[in-house]
Amino acid sequence: MSEQAIDPTALDRYECRVCGYAYEPVKGDDKQNISPGTPFAELPPTWRCPVCNAKPNAFTNIGGAGTASGFQENLGYGLGVNQMTPTQKNILIFGGLVLAFLFFMSLYGLQ
Ligand SMILES: [Zn+2]
Repeated sequence: MSEQAIDPTALDRYECRVCGYAYEPVKGDDKQNISPGTPFAELPPTWRCPVCNAKPNAFTNIGGAGTASGFQENLGYGLGVNQMTPTQKNILIFGGLVLAFLFFMSLYGLQ
């Protein structure tokens, strides 16, 4: 059991593309004598979707429970903004003001 716990993909859930049933390794499948904690990859080839009887190759990996899709992207976006130092932010704001001022002055220059 401890060796399985090291592999983070061992408890990935798999969704049946035919009917939408999701196999959850933490729960197993008591109807077909699959004990809780059995990874999808270790299901017997005779295992079938308990809802629509589809074969295991009709299932697709939908990741572990609790990992919302897009979370990694949001994390990267947040880090990108936070990597700016306060000085860099000030330069950005002040630089913007200077550009606006120069643009304003250039309009005066045209008249
Ligand atoms: Zn199914």
